[in-house]
Amino acid sequence: MQGRRYRLGVMGGTFDPIHHGHLVAASEVLARFSLDEVVFVPTGTPWQKKDRRVSSGEDRYIMAAIATSSNPRFTVSRVDIERAGDTYTVDTLKDLREERGDDVDLFFITGADALGQILTWRGAERLFQLAHFIGVTRPGVRLEAPSVEHLPADRVTLLDVPALAISSTDCRKRVREGLPIWYLVPDGIVNYINKRGLYQE
Ligand code: ATP
Ligand code: MG
Repeated sequence: MQGRRYRLGVMGGTFDPIHHGHLVAASEVLARFSLDEVVFVPTGTPWQKKDRRVSSGEDRYIMAAIATSSNPRFTVSRVDIERAGDTYTVDTLKDLREERGDDVDLFFITGADALGQILTWRGAERLFQLAHFIGVTRPGVRLEAPSVEHLPADRVTLLDVPALAISSTDCRKRVREGLPIWYLVPDGIVNYINKRGLYQE
């Protein structure tokens, strides 16, 4: 008889900074899908300047480590911050598959906003071979029915998670404006942002 396969959730994101919306979503998916672990994977820092300056991979990695440290089933991976160039989910999943071996089932956790764009991602067909996709609700973001209909039903599940109207964009703006971010992010993240002077302008 075969043993139960290890179930690994993969939560990709910029995490600039990581906030309680990310953590609640990961925790809910972990419970509902009986995952063994959720690995948070901060994206690489784009070398071209896009529309805004992204904090260094190291700062975002450390914040993810601080925020997840109290949960024995949460881990953080460096695969994306150590790969040169832009981050593509297909590369993230391939690297994790290689690192963790073939006895692991991958569950990619993504917000409603990101899932809506999934068809436009590079290597979309390959993605569904590599992982099961779990789209979590996000306040203010509606899943567009037409785009979801085009996704393979056996490889995508939508899940309602307790709604937290928190975004990293709003956290950065609040820091810039001198407003508190206590309770939107873990206490250690408030302290780290202050210590490093992140998002001041
Ligand atoms: P930004 O405002 O900079 O885009 P963000 O808050 O959207 O930041 P990301 O790092 O872009 O955070 O998100 C990583 C993943 O977490 C995405 O799949 C996103 O949809 C999801 N996510 C972010 N915030 C929430 C939330 N409050 N509830 C549920 N899912 C969320
Ligand atoms: Mg986002």
